[in-house]
Amino acid sequence: MRKLLAIVRMKCPKCYEGNMYKDINPFHVKQLHAMPERCDKCGQPFNPEPGFYMGAMYVSYGLCVGLFIACFFGFYIMLGVDPVVLLVIYGLTLLALFPFIFRYSRVVYLHLFYDYDPHAIETYQKKENTGMNQ
Ligand SMILES: [Zn+2]
Repeated sequence: MRKLLAIVRMKCPKCYEGNMYKDINPFHVKQLHAMPERCDKCGQPFNPEPGFYMGAMYVSYGLCVGLFIACFFGFYIMLGVDPVVLLVIYGLTLLALFPFIFRYSRVVYLHLFYDYDPHAIETYQKKENTGMNQ
């Protein structure tokens, strides 16, 4: 449950406190993909290896399919709109939600590979105080 909340709030997968994006507002398109190199609270790298976020495309695909299913049930099944109108509504919704889909696909993907560590912040601070971090 805490992991889900951390994902919704776009927080670090290791400490659930550091922000994964420099600019919290996803509609500032120039800053859309700007992530800090590491979590400022626990030091978790946000880009663990080159090309890491290529896999986030699969998460993005899943989110888009989920959105289509929601539009399909909401507009086609329940409201009975024309299929062409449904596709237009889906396209507009996809455009409007693109910044969220982009960011959440990266957040979910990083959360798939890293688990919560309750001691992450204090361990990082100890290392920082003794000068063990690069
Ligand atoms: Zn962190």
